[in-house]
Amino acid sequence: MLQTRIIAPAEGAYQFPLLIKRLLMSGSRYEKTREIVYRDQLRYSYLTLNERIARLANVLTEAGVKAGDTVAVMDWDSHRYLECMFAIPMIGAVVHTINVRLSPEQILYTMNHADDRFVLVNSEFVGLYQAIAGQLTTVEKTILLTDGPEKTTELPGLVGEYEQLLAAASPHYDFPDFDENSVATTFYTTGTTGNPKGVYFTHRQLVLHTMGVATVTGSIDSIRLLGTDDVYMPITPMFHVHAWGIPYVATMLGLKQVYPGRYDPELLVKLWRDEKVSFSHCVPTILQMLLNAKGAQNEDFGGWKIIIGGSALNRALYEAAKARGIQLTAAYGMSETCPLVACAHLNEELLAGSEDECVTYRIKAGVPVPLVEAAIVDGDGRFLPADGEAQGELVLRAPWLTMGYYREEAKSEELWAGGWLHTGDVATLDSMGVIDIRDRIKDVIKTGGEWVSSLDLEDLISRHPAVREVAVVGIADPQWGERPFALLVVRDGASIDARVLKEHLKPFVELGHINKWAIPSQIALVTEIPKTSVGKLDKKRIRIDIVEWQASNSAFLSTL
Ligand code: AMP
Repeated sequence: MLQTRIIAPAEGAYQFPLLIKRLLMSGSRYEKTREIVYRDQLRYSYLTLNERIARLANVLTEAGVKAGDTVAVMDWDSHRYLECMFAIPMIGAVVHTINVRLSPEQILYTMNHADDRFVLVNSEFVGLYQAIAGQLTTVEKTILLTDGPEKTTELPGLVGEYEQLLAAASPHYDFPDFDENSVATTFYTTGTTGNPKGVYFTHRQLVLHTMGVATVTGSIDSIRLLGTDDVYMPITPMFHVHAWGIPYVATMLGLKQVYPGRYDPELLVKLWRDEKVSFSHCVPTILQMLLNAKGAQNEDFGGWKIIIGGSALNRALYEAAKARGIQLTAAYGMSETCPLVACAHLNEELLAGSEDECVTYRIKAGVPVPLVEAAIVDGDGRFLPADGEAQGELVLRAPWLTMGYYREEAKSEELWAGGWLHTGDVATLDSMGVIDIRDRIKDVIKTGGEWVSSLDLEDLISRHPAVREVAVVGIADPQWGERPFALLVVRDGASIDARVLKEHLKPFVELGHINKWAIPSQIALVTEIPKTSVGKLDKKRIRIDIVEWQASNSAFLSTL
């Protein structure tokens, strides 16, 4: 340890803890009358938001919630969810944002594993909740969330309906200060194998993450996504990494916020238009869905700035969005990282290049945001050079990474091997600090002694005009180890087969972008590509489907 100078604080000097409540205070100071909007059903001011959060804190305290308890929420994106994201941590409890798209068995597992004591349940999930209630081991009480007229339901342990409870509660609550290292939020990763794993974030981490996101989106000129006049609407669910933490940023800045409930593409387009939404975030497949929405066909989305992350952004989608007026900014992160770690940034050197080169960098994972350290390591944990060539596992350090998986010692040690958080992503780093995600380690296709990135192939295939959506996975092959297999959704009125795709990819082989093993010898033409609970390509499901199709010689298949 360095012998640095530490001066003891003066008698009475206040040790200011970084707490989520400070974010709320700031937003209301800036804009008391700005609105929080819920679908086309409700709108209220920041003053009311504050009051409702205090009422909710009183309701929860009355119901017996104590500091350290875990309170779960099962809801779509709503103003009530926003209130929970503040009120629950502000009384010292932990908000568990349940991924309502997991299977009932997985939801049950996560609720028991997280020790949930209280649950707020949207009326749409009452049936699901009832089905698992008998096996919940820690839950004592429930609160009903509903947009409908019915104010009661057969929920075990029901305290009451949210709005009625809030109306009867005091609008004042003296939120105490406490240790900034107290856990504020928890949720479960949608992992590909084994049980879901619980990650958790403290007040300090969430406050620092909020400041990091606000800095990057508000002050870096090549990014400049967010100012106080922007109107925010999430299109990444609040149960998925707290909607990437952006509700905390929006509230700190006092932005107008629009919560769309369950995602319905037509309603999203309507809300965008009616509420003049200018800032959102989503994964690529959701953006694709939005662009395909009926109501979106004649819209010019000029002025809509969208952070896109969670999966690789391919050039075709970037161009399609741009043609519709949408400014996309790629970002990188994961459940374990709160999530923001990197954001596309073009420095002066890159901006001086051609538009084509600029796009190459606009779609990469980007540069680590302030306070984040990134490196790449080989299989033995040795650091590799940041030369844009060497590929290794991306490892991270930052003030807002989960400190482990809840009650999973071995997996936590693996995550933090060598004192760096291991992402499970293969990447290159270049001298400008740009991270280029090459693939998930487990999705890289090992064929003919070469490594082929499924993301590269998806990008190149998506450039064919007949292709609307594509997913590439490696399929076991007795001769080559693995072979790439492409799953395609074709645009209306267009057609493609394995031979046409080969002709499309050949020039990229000749240019050295990919090797010859990367050309799929078999593809499948489908109407829909399976997605995970958060809208990413579900490569586990896709591999199972392909094996079945191959066994039954399905009509979906097209072979060279
Ligand atoms: P999740 O924990 O479900 O949010 O998934 C995180 C994973 O999504 C990362 O480990 C990456 O594999 C992938 N991912 C996120 N952002 C990007 C990006 N910009 N480019 C490529 N992959 C990404």
